Amino acid sequence: MTDRIVVLGAGFAGLELATVLSDTFGDDAGVTLIEGGDAFVFGYSKLDVMFGHAEPDAVRLPYARFAKPGVRLLRERITGIDPETRQVTTDAAVHEADVLVVALGADYDFAATPGLAEANSEFYSVGGAEHLRDVLPTFTRGKAVVGVCGAPFKCPPAPSEAALLLHDYLTERGVRDDCELTLVMPFSTPVPPSPDTSAALLEAFAARGIEFVSGRRISSLDPLERVVTLDNGTELPYDLFLGVPKHRAPDVVQASGLAVDGYIPVDSRTLATSHPGVYAVGDVATVGVPKAGVFAEGAARVVAAEIVARRRGGERPEGYGGRGSCYVEFGRGLVGRVDVDFFSGPRPTGSFREPSLEIVAEKKHFGSSRRARWFGA
Ligand SMILES: Cc1cc2nc3c(=O)[nH]c(=O)nc-3n(C[C@H](O)[C@H](O)[C@H](O)COP(=O)(O)OP(=O)(O)OC[C@H]3O[C@@H](n4cnc5c(N)ncnc54)[C@H](O)[C@@H]3O)c2cc1C
Repeated sequence: MTDRIVVLGAGFAGLELATVLSDTFGDDAGVTLIEGGDAFVFGYSKLDVMFGHAEPDAVRLPYARFAKPGVRLLRERITGIDPETRQVTTDAAVHEADVLVVALGADYDFAATPGLAEANSEFYSVGGAEHLRDVLPTFTRGKAVVGVCGAPFKCPPAPSEAALLLHDYLTERGVRDDCELTLVMPFSTPVPPSPDTSAALLEAFAARGIEFVSGRRISSLDPLERVVTLDNGTELPYDLFLGVPKHRAPDVVQASGLAVDGYIPVDSRTLATSHPGVYAVGDVATVGVPKAGVFAEGAARVVAAEIVARRRGGERPEGYGGRGSCYVEFGRGLVGRVDVDFFSGPRPTGSFREPSLEIVAEKKHFGSSRRARWFGA
């Protein structure tokens, strides 16, 4: 009998895992993929929506379009996970798994930053980005702060990208000279594993008059007084705030007992949890790599290979390598790339490719190839 594979969450990791297993086993894949949302959206599309470069409907990939042999995609909200029995409860049913893969991503912890929810000014969700798209035209002079409320957070280059794209947005509207831009990040440099990428971003900030406040996070906001407070007590007045909320694993993961310090600890090579037959991949897990789609997808492929080997009795796959490429919007229509490697050496390393039109095309292909692979679009 085919083992029952239940995958929780149809984001980067869940979609890739289900696709590999469907490609390998066809109708016999035996995968149940459970997802509570109605559409997948690439993380970077939130920047496109916020700056009015794309309509929200245009960046949504409805799950109704995901059709793979051997994969049942169930649109259900997961309400309970028992890692001992590998039983999953949803708002519609109870599912039993032989292999359970938790790929539920990271949620936002608004309560961790007093005033953030009231300020209604985060750009890390589609709704937040859509709201800020309508707020941005009202900002014509004063102080803008792009700020991160806690690490780890998804896509470490994204706040830097937001600051550079905001500069372009204000320049195009002819109001940049009347505005000050500050970026607050909890890291000492914009992209710590890659000194060259960080140097290029710092140079871009300096050239555009963007102040970079390093090693600090936003600890609270006063939306009435329009002041953010940093974790060292410094107060920054603002007229526009673009925020990255503190992250943590979804509530259902916290309640399952799988999480330690906010996320699910795994063996970083096999993505196995301490519970037999239970894996965790992507942003929900503590793997030792950044929270980014490209890493979620890579980890999912390793678990898929493990499932294939287990079923076919073949050789065990090589462990997860912790390598990935991230595209970095530099504004002015250009995109750079950072190639990072987390596990090969004693510490993470990263190399940088200068922003170019060639990489703009590469990033476009990154999105369209996955749209085609997962959604046939
Ligand atoms: C502004 C921004 C820019 C980004 N840019 C990039 C980039 O350029 N490159 C890159 O690689 N990454 C980028 N990312 C990061 C990337 O989007 C995430 O790291 C990636 O989506 C993680 O994949 P995942 O599969 O772990 O989780 P997700 O893609 O978040 O998927 C988790 C899924 O689980 C579902 N789920 C959660 N809880 C439940 C529940 N209780 N019941 C049912 N379903 C549930 C969610 O609906 C979701 O679909 C960016 C992110 C942001 C916010």
